[in-house]
Amino acid sequence: MTKKIGVLALQGAVTEHLQALAKLGVTAAAVKLPGDLAELDGLIIPGGESTAIGRLIREQHLEEPLRAFFAAGKAIFGTCAGLILCSTDSSHAPEELRLGFIDIEVERNGFGRQVDSFEALLPFEGIAEPVEAVFIRAPYIRSVNKGVRVLASFEGKIVAAENDQILVTAFHPELTDDLSVFEYFLGKID
Ligand code: GLN
Repeated sequence: MTKKIGVLALQGAVTEHLQALAKLGVTAAAVKLPGDLAELDGLIIPGGESTAIGRLIREQHLEEPLRAFFAAGKAIFGTCAGLILCSTDSSHAPEELRLGFIDIEVERNGFGRQVDSFEALLPFEGIAEPVEAVFIRAPYIRSVNKGVRVLASFEGKIVAAENDQILVTAFHPELTDDLSVFEYFLGKID
């Protein structure tokens, strides 16, 4: 059966994710309301601005539904701001939402601010060819804790990781024609 993947559509790079999923023959759906999570096999939390997305998640009453989606064992892919939102990030400010779906510590804007947008070809564990990665005011992963595997690093900084259910990348996989990271994510869904 065709997999149905949602893209959290509150703020940020939503359309590009929907298009990438469509190219892979997956049914893609924008998620704006709690009811939109029903019948999804997986969810992407896109890049954008993690403070804004976190605030909108709360305003739209999506926090508990997202936690229930996670508790139901569904796969989730967080990219860039989505990585930050999925993380534990134990020293985050209380007003910032962190869902704690993957036990990692994060350095927000770790590569610098606006100037530090760049592209790289990254070796990625589990993907045969290097991945085309676009970094935009990207975070990096300072450390990974129990149950988390490192998948890619750039200049000694961890930029992709996973646990059994969650995939996170500091870069935007939706901004190139390289769909390999999306294929990797689909492989995490039964
Ligand atoms: N710097 C942004 C944040 O902290 C993330 C940037 C992005 O998603 N491209 O939320």
